[in-house]
Amino acid sequence: MGLFDKLASAAAVRRDVVSAGGLVPFGVTVERILSPTEGIVAGRQVILGGTNNYLGLTFDHDCIEAGIAALRREGTGTTGSRMANGSYAGHLALERELAAFYGWPEAIVFSTGYLANLGMIGALTGPGDVLVIDSDCHASIYDGCKLSGAEVIRFRHNNAADLDRRLARLGERAHNALVIVEGIYSMLGDQAPLADIVAAKKRHGAMLMVDEAHSLGVLGEHGRGLCEAAGVMDGVDFVVGTFSKSLGGVGGFCVSPHPEFGLVRYTSRPYIFTASPSPATIASTRQALGHLRSRPQLRERLWHNVSRLHQGLTALGLPPAAAPSPVLAIARDSREQALADWQQLLDAGVYVNLMVPPATPGGISLLRCSISAAHSDAQIDHILAAFAALPGGRSAAPGQAALA
Ligand code: PMP
Repeated sequence: MGLFDKLASAAAVRRDVVSAGGLVPFGVTVERILSPTEGIVAGRQVILGGTNNYLGLTFDHDCIEAGIAALRREGTGTTGSRMANGSYAGHLALERELAAFYGWPEAIVFSTGYLANLGMIGALTGPGDVLVIDSDCHASIYDGCKLSGAEVIRFRHNNAADLDRRLARLGERAHNALVIVEGIYSMLGDQAPLADIVAAKKRHGAMLMVDEAHSLGVLGEHGRGLCEAAGVMDGVDFVVGTFSKSLGGVGGFCVSPHPEFGLVRYTSRPYIFTASPSPATIASTRQALGHLRSRPQLRERLWHNVSRLHQGLTALGLPPAAAPSPVLAIARDSREQALADWQQLLDAGVYVNLMVPPATPGGISLLRCSISAAHSDAQIDHILAAFAALPGGRSAAPGQAALA
C-alpha cells in the first residue's frame, strides 16, 4: 500500500460534494475580496455570509494603516519563533494589552488560535493527567489532546451534570484534570452553560480552559466573551482565543490569572518551534483590539444584524439550530439537500458555509451563516430572500421576511 492510498477517502469525499454548478464547496476560492461582506466567487459578486468577521474589521482604515506602517518599519516577517528571534516589542505590547483587557497578569501570543490550543494543552497536561472535554470541541482541542498524551474523557455536549459525574468518578485524579469548553460552539452557535461548568470544576478541584474563539468581541459587556457574560471570570483558569475572527487578523493567545502561567513559554512546543506572527499582523491586531474595546457600537450593530437574520429565518420556517448568535446554522434534511441549497444560495448571490458529516455534531448537514457588524440591513434582507426561495422556505420578497 502506497502513501497516497490513504487519500482514497478524500477523493470519495470530493466526488460526493460537487455541486450542480460544478463547485466543491470546501476550499472555495474567493477570487477577489471587495469588502468585509462582499467578494467575487465563481465569477459573480456575492454577499459573504460565512466569514467569522464578526466586527467587520478586516478593511478598517486604522488596522490597515497600522499594518502598513509596521511592514515598512519592521519588515515582512520575524523569521523566527517567539523563543528564538521572533519576540519583538509589538508581540510583548499586544500581550500586555490582552492581559490588561482581561485584568489578569499575563497573556501569551501564539501564531494561530489552533496553535494556542495545541500549545496550552500540550504544555499543561501529559501522561498521568486527564483532559475532560466537551464532545463538540473544535479540532484544535482534539489535536492538542493527542499532542499532550494525557487521558482524554469526553462529556456530553453542554451537559454540566455529565461533566460533574465524570469528574466525581476521577476522585483525587480530578486535581490533575483540565476541563475544556468553548464560549460559542462554531458549528451550531450554541453557548456553554458556563456557570454550571465552573461550579462542577470547583466542586472537584479541576482546572478550566475556555476557548472564546467565536465569543471574543461578541459576548460580555466589554466584549471579553462568555466568561464575562456569564459573570464567572474568577472561576476560569485559562482563556484561549484567536485573532482570526472578531479581530480580523491571524494569530492566537492565551491569558490566565495564575502567576505560574508564563512558564508555559519554556515547555510549549507550538510556541517554541514555529515562527511568530509578522509585525504587520501584530500591529493591525493591536489596533483591532483597541477598536473592540473602545467601540461597543460594533458589538451592538452585530447583535442588531443577528436578531434581524434570526427572526427572519424563523419567520421563513427555517429556524436556526440555536438561540440568536453570530453563528446561525440551518439544518437540512440530507447532505444532498444541503449541497443543492448551498449552490442555490450562491446562484442568488449569497455565500454561506456548507457543513456536512463527519465535521458536524450528530451527523447533521448544515447551512452555516456567520454574521458581521459590517452587514447592512439590505444585505441581511438579501440573504433572507435567498433562503426564502429554498425548499421549505416560505417565499418572501426582500425585506418582508426580516420584518415579519
Ligand atoms: N478554536 C475554535 C473554537 C475555532 O473555531 C477555531 C477556528 N475555526 C480555532 C480555535 C482556531 O483558530 P485559528 O483560525 O486562529 O487557528
